[in-house]
Amino acid sequence: MRLVTGTISHETNVFSTIRTDLDEFRKRLLLRGEEVSDHFRGTKTPVGGIIDGCEERGFELVPTIFASATPSGKITDEAFEALLGELLDGVKDARPIHGVVLHLHGAGVSEGCDDIEGRILSEVQKAVGGLPLVSTFDLHANHTRLTVDSADVFIGYDTYPHVDGYERGLEAVGVAERLIDGSLKPTKAFRQPPMMPALQVQFTGRPPMSLLMDAAHRMEGLEGVETITVAAGFPWSDFEDTGLSITVTTNDDQGLADECADELVDLAWSLRRDFLVKPVPVQEALRKVEAASEGPIVLADIGDNPGGGAPCDGTVVLRAVLEAGLEGGVFAVIADPEVVAAAVEAGVGSEVTVDLGGKTDKLHGPPLNVTGTVRLISDGKFIARGPMGTGSERDMGRTAVLRVRGVDVVVTEKRLQPTDLQLYRSLGIEPAERRFIVVKSSVHYRAAHDPIAKEIIELDTPGLTSPRLASFDFRRIRRPIFPLDMEMLGITELKSMEDE
Ligand SMILES: [Zn+2]
Repeated sequence: MRLVTGTISHETNVFSTIRTDLDEFRKRLLLRGEEVSDHFRGTKTPVGGIIDGCEERGFELVPTIFASATPSGKITDEAFEALLGELLDGVKDARPIHGVVLHLHGAGVSEGCDDIEGRILSEVQKAVGGLPLVSTFDLHANHTRLTVDSADVFIGYDTYPHVDGYERGLEAVGVAERLIDGSLKPTKAFRQPPMMPALQVQFTGRPPMSLLMDAAHRMEGLEGVETITVAAGFPWSDFEDTGLSITVTTNDDQGLADECADELVDLAWSLRRDFLVKPVPVQEALRKVEAASEGPIVLADIGDNPGGGAPCDGTVVLRAVLEAGLEGGVFAVIADPEVVAAAVEAGVGSEVTVDLGGKTDKLHGPPLNVTGTVRLISDGKFIARGPMGTGSERDMGRTAVLRVRGVDVVVTEKRLQPTDLQLYRSLGIEPAERRFIVVKSSVHYRAAHDPIAKEIIELDTPGLTSPRLASFDFRRIRRPIFPLDMEMLGITELKSMEDE
């Protein structure tokens, strides 16, 4: 058997001012042909899973392209068409093949296309003329009818933090095999309940999401159910398919697919009250840090998560920490290439005075004038120890650790969400011994930080990934939708968080 694989991955926050051109893909990861297998072989990632799934079965895998950019604003048409063209050429050149297994994100928006994954899948389907087509997807996918109709089967992550990408990659190859040998005849039910949850309540480690996932897993044990994707969605893509969706794939049993999908929709809707987010005011959180006898307390700057398209240079929390005089903490991370350059020029041990952060837009706090000591300079590369993406290389760009009034600030050239403790350890910082850790992340930080955190506090910070969804100028999402239209949805007894 011979399968072909490829990836064009982006989570698009249409409110971001950062244009996503080809350079943004080059900065994160843009690989071609055998570079893809060389990079991902042996890693616990979706593509690592696809590679191992093929090797286990003795299948030949032809890699085409892997393109991923850090979440940011809309992808330029030029970049998207170029990447799609390369993927399609790669798929055509790989023939004769027996099937296609892609890894996609699901929340990609280009200037001219709200639904890049639907477009990718439909074009690949045309290119391979009806051969089996399977794709894995991120849990933050905003699925569409075009995706459902174009892929024979798709398989979303079951976890957030995403720690099951490898397993979903393996699963996708197994599904492709059954499509090829004819033992699987997929029948699908697709539902989009009127719900658009913020990221914090998409965390699968606690209700309500854990209850939805448990129910889906129970159903996957039923005879005839092949796979179920509960996709929590990505709010800031702002188009009509944005939000929660449920896709049930059965083996030649449409009735069973419909029944399971309806049951999951009812469950999600019945849990809607638990899909509200209550972040903690920054000052209140800092008082808790001050009063705590043991650290580290993890403070999540959820408004400025680069993993959701925010600039990662917000200064709101650092300003508050310095004003409060709190020492012994570490900030991961503030992306500011200018400050990195100044630190490199000054050298380790030198004192620098810089305007730190706040340079991308006006939503995340203005630049902060600080004087600090350059403690360390690094190339910013480390290998993730997991549980997310174990074994894969992370690249922060050149990185400086700046000590400002008893606080270590990790300043990087690239925007990066702190999902792995090697980030600190590669810089000689032991996070478990710190009084507090500030992370710019919505939920992913939990996978690595939960085991060392004495407490985790989600901060009510402003920004492009704030859970205060009513504060965004959504223009194109389907309405009514939870949590924006709670009265229309019969939840009159609850006031929205924005009213408080
Ligand atoms: Zn995701």
